Formats: sequence, C-alpha cells, structure tokens
Amino acid sequence: MFETLSREADDPLLALTPLFRADPNPAKVDLGVGVYRDELGRTPVFRAVKRAEAHLLETQETKAYVGPEGDRTFIEAFWTFVAGEGRHAAGVQTVGGTGALRLAAELLRRSGSSRIFLGTPTWSNHSAIFAAAGLSVVTYPSFDVAGQRLLAGEMISVVADKAQPGDAILLHASCHNPTGAVMDDATWAAVAEVALEKGLVPVIDSAYQGFGTGIESDAAPLRRLLDRVPEAIVAASASKSFGLYRERTGAVYATSASPETRDKLKSHLVTIGRGAYSMPPDHGAAVVRTILTDPELRTDWRTELDDARKRITSMRTILAKGLSRLSPALAAIATQQGMFSLLPIDETRIVELRHRRGIYMPLSGRINIAGLNSSQAPGVIEALCAHAA
Ligand code: PLP
Repeated sequence: MFETLSREADDPLLALTPLFRADPNPAKVDLGVGVYRDELGRTPVFRAVKRAEAHLLETQETKAYVGPEGDRTFIEAFWTFVAGEGRHAAGVQTVGGTGALRLAAELLRRSGSSRIFLGTPTWSNHSAIFAAAGLSVVTYPSFDVAGQRLLAGEMISVVADKAQPGDAILLHASCHNPTGAVMDDATWAAVAEVALEKGLVPVIDSAYQGFGTGIESDAAPLRRLLDRVPEAIVAASASKSFGLYRERTGAVYATSASPETRDKLKSHLVTIGRGAYSMPPDHGAAVVRTILTDPELRTDWRTELDDARKRITSMRTILAKGLSRLSPALAAIATQQGMFSLLPIDETRIVELRHRRGIYMPLSGRINIAGLNSSQAPGVIEALCAHAA
C-alpha cells in the first residue's frame, strides 16, 4: 500500500536552513527563518523563561497529565494577555498556534461552516491547516507587493460580494506574516461591519503580540472586533511572544455572549483535541502561567520583549531608508510591523543573492527583519540594490 504513495514536496522555507548552514561564506545572512534573532544572531531563551523554568524544576511534584483542556490558570492568564480584561470565551490549551488554528478549523466544521476566506499572501501553512480540516479555502489578493500597499478596499468588496452566512474569515491580529502590512482602524471597522452584515465568523490569528508597537496596542484592534461581533475565534500562539517556539504553546478561544453556548464550545474544543492528541503538553504553558502570574517575572519578560521590538523597529528604519533607492514604495518597510516584510524581487535574483552574496530568503521574497543586524545591514542593502537591477 505504502508504495503507492507519491513523495510530498519539502517545505521550501524549512529547506533553506540546511542550505544556509552548509554555506561556507563567512558573511552569509539568514533572512529566511521565522524566529526572532538578536543583534548577535541568537534566538535566546528569555530571562524570565529561564527563571520560571528554574522555579518549575524546584516546585513541580508530578508529571501526571494536566487534563484535556490544559492548564486552566494558563488558559485564563493568556486570554487576558490577548483579549484584555472582562471579555468571555471558551478556551483550551493547544499545541502551539498551529494547533489552535487546527482546532478552530475543526470547530468551524462542527458548527456547519464550510468555507474560510484568506487574504493572500498569508502564512504558508494557513491554507493547509484549514483544508486539512475539510474547509474550502477561498483566497483573495490583499497586498500589492510592488506598491507595498494593503488592498483594503478590494478585500472588503470581495468578501462583501462573495461570502455567505456561516463562512469564516481569517485575520492577522497584528504583525502580518509575510507582509508586515498594518490594517488601519477604518479597515478593521469595515471588516467588523461586513462580518455582522453577512453573518461571518472572524478567526483571528494572534502569533506576534508585542512585536508591532506594544503588547496592549497590538491587541487593540482584535479587542475592538471582539466587542463588535457576537461570535469569533482567536487562535493565539506563545511561540514568539515568549520565545517558546519548540515548547508548542498556544490556546484557542471561541466567544459567545451566552454562558451555555460557551460551555458547549469548550466541550467541542476539548473533544476535538482529545481525538487528535488527547492532552496538550505542559511545560510551555506552565512557563507562561508562571510569568504572567508573577509581577516581577512579568516585568522582566515585558522589558525583554520591548527590547526585541525596538531592535526590529531600528532595523526597519535602516532598511527602509536604504531600499527606498530601489523603489520609493519600500519606504513602507519603516511603518510595517513585526518580523516580516515581503520584497518585490523575482526568483532568479533571490537565487543569485543566495549564491553570490550568501543572502538567504525564500523565493517568495519574504524577509525576516530580525535576521539582520546593524553591521550586516549596509552590505545587505547594497546587495539588494545591486541585484534588483
Ligand atoms: N500564525 C502565524 C501567522 C505564524 O506565522 C505562525 C508561525 O510561524 C503561527 C501562526 C503558528 O505558530 P506556532 O509555532 O505557535 O504553531
């Protein structure tokens, strides 16, 4: 039977890492990988994470299962981090933000939804996650790469025109992957109105809170949307905001004004997770819970996250200034947010940059701004300008 299988293609983004490692060029630069890097190119464990881990090591008395919904204190504290005070949701802990999205997709299916609208370009895994749960994925262009411009009007009109009641629409809470494009308040409000008019369920992917302009400001549009629509799903990841990538830490939350409906929603989220992996892993959630419930650790973690964001912002300013020689539209890199921006470079030049200059980025042209440091920036700008012509 297995011989009948054809080989799946390797993920082109993940395939870049071994290529980068094998490159002997001492001046090589990795702009491909999707994790935060500091000025020295490291992805450090946050100080607060180390301290929380030391505390857990000393105090943890058992490795017995945490239970199918996960760590309740984590689920609640993480919801307050994402959604602020006073908002209600049914939540369960998940295997990273990816697990949260997958549970969201399964919940949509169980609720009778069969389609999700995705603006493109988007995170390369989005389509696969929703399709794997049996949803039809409807894509629409939402970003003009050459003009570095969000196609806000087009996005609203496509959704208003094509969406049916019960359809879902995916939104990036902040720090859009891969474009860094910022959806302004008027567009968020227009999305809320279309969702209300058409009876759509917003699915908000929150994977980079704290990397845009700040922990609270990054979450403000999501919170306003939750206040406006009767039902929504939030898929939240702790991977980036707490630097816990490999610990697979996240949570999914579904909102409803009715406590009875929230109870039903939680029972569904629990049974979906139970059928997939039974119980979520403990460690990452225990770390986040420890940080969020300890004022001192919390302050330290916020300071480190603020520093990461400031470093990205300063790299953005340098890149935007240098690359606006290439195209005035690239000045937008300075006002885009989060780790990523999408450069208008064709595949031939991307491969050339890799081979001749040791600059690695996926063929889409997405760059991780945090992959850059101040000593490499001038050389990267010069190479990008030289190889664009
Ligand atoms: N959503 C977006 C937009 C992402 O970029 C990512 C990870 O890169 C995720 C969700 C999933 O994150 P996690 O590693 O927590 O599964």
